[in-house]
Amino acid sequence: MLEFENTSIRKKLIIIQLATALLAVLICCFFFVYRDIRTFKDAEVRTNYSIAQVIGFNAIPALEFMDPEAAEKMLLSLQNNPSVLNAVILDQKGREFARYDRTGEEAFSFTGSEEEKENTNNPWEKFIITYPIVDKEQLGTVVIRAELTGFRQILLDYLIIAGLILLASLAIALLVSNILQRSITQRLLGLVNRTKEVADKNDYSLRAKEYGNDEIATLATAYNRMLDQIERMQKALKNANADLEKRVKIRTAELEAANQELERFVYVASHDLQEPLRTISNYAGLLQDKYSGGLDATGNKYLGSLMRSAGRMRALINDLLEFSRLGKNAEIKDVDTGHVLQEVISLLDAVISENGVTITSTSLPVLKGNEVELKQLFQNLLSNAIKFRKPDVAPEVNITVEDRGNEYLFAFKDNGIGIEPEYKERIFIVFQRLHAKHEYPGTGIGLATCQKIVTLHKGKIWVDSQLGNGSTFYFTLSKNL
Ligand code: ADP
Repeated sequence: MLEFENTSIRKKLIIIQLATALLAVLICCFFFVYRDIRTFKDAEVRTNYSIAQVIGFNAIPALEFMDPEAAEKMLLSLQNNPSVLNAVILDQKGREFARYDRTGEEAFSFTGSEEEKENTNNPWEKFIITYPIVDKEQLGTVVIRAELTGFRQILLDYLIIAGLILLASLAIALLVSNILQRSITQRLLGLVNRTKEVADKNDYSLRAKEYGNDEIATLATAYNRMLDQIERMQKALKNANADLEKRVKIRTAELEAANQELERFVYVASHDLQEPLRTISNYAGLLQDKYSGGLDATGNKYLGSLMRSAGRMRALINDLLEFSRLGKNAEIKDVDTGHVLQEVISLLDAVISENGVTITSTSLPVLKGNEVELKQLFQNLLSNAIKFRKPDVAPEVNITVEDRGNEYLFAFKDNGIGIEPEYKERIFIVFQRLHAKHEYPGTGIGLATCQKIVTLHKGKIWVDSQLGNGSTFYFTLSKNL
């Protein structure tokens, strides 16, 4: 059944039509054969009944004169009729009076009862006929047992003819159905192929052929209407996309221009601020060297404050300058990040041993990037991990890396003071600090620098932390720089 469901509509239609034709012809053949055989049998029965009538008439004198020999002689005339197998004349009391058996045929005892007639073996080939002999009163009965001569041959002929008719009608049905069903299957196939084409080429401007006024035509019209709608929607979507792309491009260009303007401003401002600051620092230094003896305690305190602020401002301006220089003319080459880590560790050697820091790391990869920037990134993260330590716990930093196919995922995990979840994003913004400078010194540019470096390396940076439970800084670096 499943196989039938999986065959094409064309084949299905042919099978259905052939099966219908086969059934119709079979039923017709059956009825015709049945009727013809019946007619044949009725004719035979009638013939034998006439014979029984003649015998009955001729047997009247023999019965009246009780002359069975004359009756048997008369019965011998049945030899001329090969369909008669046995014949018996019964007397008035139903006793056998005279009999005839066809040569080679077994004797058959007759009573002439209805039951006997019914039970004649194979009623389609053999039958029994009884005829009452009457002359004023019933003198006896003629019983004839006969066969339908040539019945098997006739049946065989009929079957052969029926088979031939069946074959011929199947061949004609196949031919006719093949021609007629084309108007259905070819159009359906056309629709199917068009659908495939639309799906394969993703081309909604194609249309199905529409002709006729039947269900397939309705289907094709509805299908084309659907394609119309999809095409319209696709066009609208394309236009909207193009419009959006244009707007995004304009916005990006605007943003880039504003960004550049801002960066230029930051650079110029920090650069120009250096000069007066240097003068302030110099004069403050001169004041301290030459006149600090002439100042009272309050004067010296003010001078110290002035020099500390100038120093802090210098640090801020330097960091800002470096921040605004990031990415400018940066050289990209193969960088061994394991080597970068070692250099940063030796750079921070004093802080590391002072704080008793343990640093562990898995083997780190060689990747494309800017060495100076990556060093800066590692240094900022490592020095933060040490700086934001718990006072009574020796700092431990674990660095791991995971190859994610087209990028590397680095993790710097520390056991420091941790960060409250609500500040997880804010800390990457310039000058955003969570602590007062006397608690933990710093300018608040370190993580903003890290983010800019990671972005320049087509990556992302984020932190996972809980207050009091250490922090893990994750960042990715693209392999396709
Ligand atoms: P800075 O270190 O100069 O304060 P950063 O931009 O490097 O500036 O860091 C911003 C803030 O993020 C820090 O002030 C600190 O509150 C928090 N922070 C950074 N790294 C860590 C860390 N490893 N553990 C806890 N807090 C951190």
